[in-house]
Amino acid sequence: MFNKTEKLLLHICCMGCGAHIAGELKKNFRVTLFFYNPNIFPENEYNKRLGEAKKIAKKFNLKLIIGKYKHNEWLELIKGNEREPEKGKRCIICYHERLKETAVKAKEIGSDYFTTTLTISPRKDARAISEIGNGLADKYDIKFLDKDFKKQDGFKKTCELSRELGLYRQNYCGCEFSRSGNK
Ligand code: SF4
Repeated sequence: MFNKTEKLLLHICCMGCGAHIAGELKKNFRVTLFFYNPNIFPENEYNKRLGEAKKIAKKFNLKLIIGKYKHNEWLELIKGNEREPEKGKRCIICYHERLKETAVKAKEIGSDYFTTTLTISPRKDARAISEIGNGLADKYDIKFLDKDFKKQDGFKKTCELSRELGLYRQNYCGCEFSRSGNK
């Protein structure tokens, strides 16, 4: 179905999830990793996750593109939705922002596809991510790999691989609002 010469830009939010998905997608695509997560707070947590992404890019011999860390702008985007529960409005805005930047970057570098690791988490709204991804694909005229990565034991496999590789696995989604019982 897929042609190994096609290029795919994979948005990664953390390598605990990204390593397994990148390894699987490498079988069918020429994968580039894209770390764009202005939602992550505090900055030392951002740097920790970015450090793991660099490690995996090196280990898997994949190119890694690093987006801008503009947390204050992200806070403006989600303003008014700080108290929303996970999978609520704040998360929809957050998914959209990260996927939009991925679609734009994918287009810019001549990628055939873009996608995200976000659907691997049972705490994410995979249906909303699919709708956002497909909408952006139409808008930017680029293909979205619409996949719920948690299917076929994806979440279990990702946990196993990250344990095997000794990767850091955080205990909250990323923003300050997901740190205090709002997960
Ligand atoms: S909980 Fe996660 S997905 Fe939702 S807004 Fe915070 S960082 Fe983004």
